[in-house]
Amino acid sequence: MSVLLIDLDDLKAGSFSASGSFRSASLELDPDSAFRFSGQIKLSVRINTTDKLTYYVSGRLNYQAQGDCRRCLREVNEPVETEFRGVFAFPEALEKLAPTREEQAAEEIFPLKHGETNIDLTALVRESLLLEYPLYVQCAEDCRGFCPSCGANLNVESCKCRNLVRDARWAKLLDLNRDK
Ligand SMILES: [Zn+2]
Ligand SMILES: [Zn+2]
Repeated sequence: MSVLLIDLDDLKAGSFSASGSFRSASLELDPDSAFRFSGQIKLSVRINTTDKLTYYVSGRLNYQAQGDCRRCLREVNEPVETEFRGVFAFPEALEKLAPTREEQAAEEIFPLKHGETNIDLTALVRESLLLEYPLYVQCAEDCRGFCPSCGANLNVESCKCRNLVRDARWAKLLDLNRDK
């Protein structure tokens, strides 16, 4: 069984821990989405319950975000670690929690149906993972990227354009001086 699915029969009152890996395909992401992963996603999760009606879930995700360096377009794998938190509750407990709609959204409360035998972490994990997914990746802090004029990859070669640009700027200043 996937680590994203926790069997409620395994959960005695108290605390329960599990860990494992899963493939990003398990998250049922939009196939056109820009989120790419290298290798599997590691998950460790801890679940606490006192009444077996409300389950407090906290966990950690480790994965490699895969993308193209925003400067030189080289493929980069960037390690990411994120934490997540959520509450799963059966209807009886949900009434007692009585959260407003806004609270329910903010606290990530997931209602469990009567007779449910599993806690499905897929939606909770997917949401927190996508929220923390890096906006961009960069192969190195000092990646030089491409020359905007000639397209040379400045990490591997140099070009004369920078000088030309600077020369052009000077030339304009010189022209101004000449006009005076
Ligand atoms: Zn780069
Ligand atoms: Zn150039």
